[in-house]
Parts: sequence; C-alpha cells; structure tokens
Amino acid sequence: MENLRLSPLISEEEIQERVRKIGAAITDKFRGQELVVVGVLKGSFMFYADLIRAIDTDLTCDFCAVSSYADGIVSSGEVKVTLDLSRSIRDRNVIVVEDIVDTGLTMNFLKRHLAVHKPKSITTASLLIKPDALKEKCDVDFVGFKIPNDFVVGYGLDYQGYFRNLPYIAQVSNIN
Ligand code: 5GP
Repeated sequence: MENLRLSPLISEEEIQERVRKIGAAITDKFRGQELVVVGVLKGSFMFYADLIRAIDTDLTCDFCAVSSYADGIVSSGEVKVTLDLSRSIRDRNVIVVEDIVDTGLTMNFLKRHLAVHKPKSITTASLLIKPDALKEKCDVDFVGFKIPNDFVVGYGLDYQGYFRNLPYIAQVSNIN
C-alpha cells in the first residue's frame, strides 16, 4: 500500500457528531416503535455499530451482504445477494444501513429486494453519498455526508481489503 496517498476528508470528530445526529433523528422518527436495523456488510460495520448506539428505541440487528464491486475501484454494475437476512422482516420497520451510495444501484437493488418480504416500512441511511456518481435516482432518508466523486477509504470502507480500521474518511490516490 506504499504507493497510495491518503488525504483526510472527514475527521473522526465530524463523523461522530453527524452519526449522533442521525441516531437522534431516527429515534424521533420511530419513538415507541420497534426497528430492525440491517447492516450491509462489510463496509457499513463501523457506521452501523456507532449508529445503533445512538438510536434510543427497541431494535434488533440483522445483516446482509451484496457484491457489487470486484476488488478494485471500478463498479461492475452487477449486484447480487451473498448473505441474506436471518429473520423475517414482514410487518417490521426496517432501516437499511449502507456505507456509501455511489451509482445508487446497490441501494435501489436492496430496497427492491427487501420490499419483496413485505416490511411495514423501509428507511435508508448511508454515511456517504456521491451525488455526481449517481446513475439512477436514489432517495436516501438519512445521509451523513455528500462527497465528491473520488474513491474513499476508512471508517469501514476499504481498498482491496485494507484501511477499514481508519477512524476517519480519506481520499485515496495512486502516486505512481
Ligand atoms: P453503488 O452500487 O452505489 O455504485 O456502490 C455501492 C457500493 O460500492 C458501496 O457499498 C461500496 O462497497 C462500494 N463503493 C462505492 N464507492 C466507494 C468508495 O469510494 N470507496 C469504497 N471503499 N467503496 C466504494
């Protein structure tokens, strides 16, 4: 990874403050109701862990995984489920937690995939969105930060499996 340059984009403090606000907004929206919070693995795991601790209503946790990217920077455009939910979401309030919305294909696919199971509601949250990269309209209810159309890592997001452990978000560029 020595030929890569990381340029910090969003600090740990900014992330933590924003995640607390999103948690408070979700709490307000669902006060007194139960939630199923669905994390989309692997990239959302850090956002997910912080977000659920900022939500103050009864909730259960579940996870799914989709493959949309190969191991690099360019989207394959294909989405398929590689890990599905472990319990029924029928008549439940579901929140989908994503790390980043890039083309929008994954989030829109997930909404369609979950809707088949007839939940009471589907709410979407993404830590990051790249508005200039959207290939289709994609409404996200709770967005952490809008970012430029650059590849980013950290706070759960990887490049070839690395950098997920950074507590902040950084742009990554090749210096060769
Ligand atoms: P989309 O289907 O919206 O194009 O892509 C969603 C998925 O692509 C994300 O969940 C994430 O795994 C991956 N992705 C998109 N942009 C980035 C990026 O800048 N950095 C990283 N690490 N992954 C990205």
